[in-house]
Amino acid sequence: MSEQANPFESLQEQIDDAAEYVDAGDDVLNRLKHPERVLETNLSVEMDDGEIEVFKAFRSEFNGDRGPYKGGIRYHPNVSRDEVKALSGWMVYKCAVVDIPYGGGKGGIVIDPDDYSESELERITRSFAKELRPFIGEDKDIPAPDVNTGQREMNWIKDTYETLENTTEPGVITGKSPDSGGSAGRVEATGRSTMLTAREAFDYLDRDIAGAEVAVQGYGNAGWIAAKLLHELDANVVAVSDSSGGIYAEDGFNPVDVKDHKNETGSVVGYPGADEELSNEDVLTLDVDLLVPAALENAIDGDLARDVRADVIVEAANGPLTPEADEVLAEADTYVFPDILANAGGVTVSYFEWVQNRQRFYWTEQRVNEELERIITAAFDNLVETYERTGAPNMRTAAYVVAIRRVVDAYEESGNWP
Ligand code: NAD
Repeated sequence: MSEQANPFESLQEQIDDAAEYVDAGDDVLNRLKHPERVLETNLSVEMDDGEIEVFKAFRSEFNGDRGPYKGGIRYHPNVSRDEVKALSGWMVYKCAVVDIPYGGGKGGIVIDPDDYSESELERITRSFAKELRPFIGEDKDIPAPDVNTGQREMNWIKDTYETLENTTEPGVITGKSPDSGGSAGRVEATGRSTMLTAREAFDYLDRDIAGAEVAVQGYGNAGWIAAKLLHELDANVVAVSDSSGGIYAEDGFNPVDVKDHKNETGSVVGYPGADEELSNEDVLTLDVDLLVPAALENAIDGDLARDVRADVIVEAANGPLTPEADEVLAEADTYVFPDILANAGGVTVSYFEWVQNRQRFYWTEQRVNEELERIITAAFDNLVETYERTGAPNMRTAAYVVAIRRVVDAYEESGNWP
């Protein structure tokens, strides 16, 4: 994995690439390349041994032209100001590409959560929630889970906020557990939009998803659900990996069995049904029909892209390809269906959760999945129409053209003030 690519610079390059296809002034486009504000805070938290430890944390509110800021909270040692800024920008364009009424935000704590007990993580999370309190709210900024955070952390943040505000406001955060106001279908949503994007992509390219060989990098929430749902479409998931390494089986895996093994042992590696073990890099460069990067950003840089042999890439992770990798893959006629569409299921079902929270009326999982399918397929159709009409060099640029147009329209309709 490249250490050099700065995700914030990647985001800015992606906007520049799309700018030539969007009829808007440089001043307006320049506005879209920087966050409106970034909170940087140092959390002082008491550890189980009584010592105080300080954790750096961020929240970036990138753009609110189309609605409240929306985006996840990540716990990872590599969290940085620039990473959070980039991720918050991608959220703006993701919400716009699927046309849901949000802007973009993102947050994170610089931490390896494996090093802390559950009670320490609770205090760290509640401390962050206290710092976030003036900024968040169901009409202001609505956090959600990201890498290494989930329902547990969302429930803590909701409880901290509601206690401090002396209110009930479940829509202040999404990705909660069902009993705390979470939506049916939220856990599967990101993998589901990845599957839907892959299904539509193969249909668009006149290829069969049934029987297609698939490699999935990263076997967390996004990756494993994508693998499971692709398997349900009869795709052949031949390789998967996690941070410990990869596995390969010529006849394909049953993703549920691999997940059970990971739950028991902590990794996909060692799964008894595998023909062989692979390195993470091998999984990314396998000769497959479909590659799904579902780990972290910058997984494929320009050098590695030269070795990628997949015909189609559908990005479940945020920013897994550097701009240089995009160029290399476009030259090689590899179709890349971008993150801001393919993993938009997470934020789309977060939007459904927020709607349900505000109405205090909850939907069935079937309704959630049907509404998600409607939104993702409509966004896909709009994307390929834009790609063909504008002559954009790749699907990512076309997706940014759609998204930037919508953000610019909202901004220009509101006017600049003060
Ligand atoms: P997760 O923590 O559940 O899973 C991440 C997985 O990636 C783990 O299996 C980990 O072992 C693996 N991994 C880490 N480094 C790796 C490497 N070098 N090679 C192979 N595997 C590696 O996280 P997640 O929620 O699945 O998120 C994954 C990506 O999807 C992130 O980019 C995240 O921003 C994006 N995403 C997630 C959601 C969501 O709803 N969960 C929504 C939108 C986007």
